[in-house]
Amino acid sequence: MTVFKTPNLSWNGSLTSLNKSDVEYIIVHHPGAENYSLMDAHREHRDTQGWAGIGYNYYQRKSGTRYIGRGQNQGAHAGGTYNPKSVAYCIEGNYSTEEMQKHTYEAAVEGVKELMDFYNVPASNVIRHSDCTGTTGQTECPGTNYPWSQFKSDIGGSGTDSTSSGSSSSGAPRYGDDDLTFRQAHGDVWGDDGYEWLQEALNDLVNAGLTVDGVFGQNTLDATRDFQDMYNLSYAGADYYGVPGPTTQAKIEELQNGGSSSSGLPSGMLRRGDRGDGVRAVQEALVEANFYPDRNASNNGVDGIYGPDTENAVERFQSVYLSNEVDGIYGPNTREKLEEVM
Ligand SMILES: [Zn+2]
Repeated sequence: MTVFKTPNLSWNGSLTSLNKSDVEYIIVHHPGAENYSLMDAHREHRDTQGWAGIGYNYYQRKSGTRYIGRGQNQGAHAGGTYNPKSVAYCIEGNYSTEEMQKHTYEAAVEGVKELMDFYNVPASNVIRHSDCTGTTGQTECPGTNYPWSQFKSDIGGSGTDSTSSGSSSSGAPRYGDDDLTFRQAHGDVWGDDGYEWLQEALNDLVNAGLTVDGVFGQNTLDATRDFQDMYNLSYAGADYYGVPGPTTQAKIEELQNGGSSSSGLPSGMLRRGDRGDGVRAVQEALVEANFYPDRNASNNGVDGIYGPDTENAVERFQSVYLSNEVDGIYGPNTREKLEEVM
């Protein structure tokens, strides 16, 4: 099984996320250094080059251990033309001066095939850094000794075919059980049951409107990102953007467990067009805070329907207590302020 470790990297600045569908190329690199760890690359790119951090999307040691670097964020490795439409797979070593060892090679074949499968990139679009037109420097990368034609042959085919390799169990290095597989690190954290749970939670907490089918598709990815944005889960050390990993899972559980706190206010999002008990609870809280949905209506407009009057009341409340978030949409920040004021 192909494994990518998810290191705990601290970034200097924010990263730009890369849509899977934007990835046309997988670009193979070497760092040009015989002994060069993931952290060596990360520190050099961040502290010497002044970038956000390691420029490669994926990094493989000679041992075969693979890491997610920038992952599904835009890399810094092949110039401005290629970076937005490619991911980098960098293999430790200097293949202008040394030969690649067999187990390193086999791990590279396996890792790149996994990326081809994940990003839906054909073998013809797996290229060397030196193949990138218009880039300066590194013209030999990944090195003149890199067994490129053999490599292209071994990754050949659709990239989804695993029958042609057959070598993964013999020569490839093995990894500990605590490692995440590549797919796990990119989203397949909980399997089908977990996804259904996730989809139900996102529907409940952020009105995601997902079909609960246990499939982690684009809509679930987008909703996961929305959720992470909403709860500020995009900091360094948290889960990768769009990955429902431990940080995201913990936040969901926290919200579900505290979902109906003593205030009775719902933990998710509500907006114009919603209706039900959650809306009613919000309306009651607004009344208590003296922001009446409709002072002239019966029951001050508390009717369980999130119409224009309720939206307006939320906006008025936000303009006083959350002046940078005046959108008329009830969410976690509005909830927190309402609970303070009530
Ligand atoms: Zn390179």
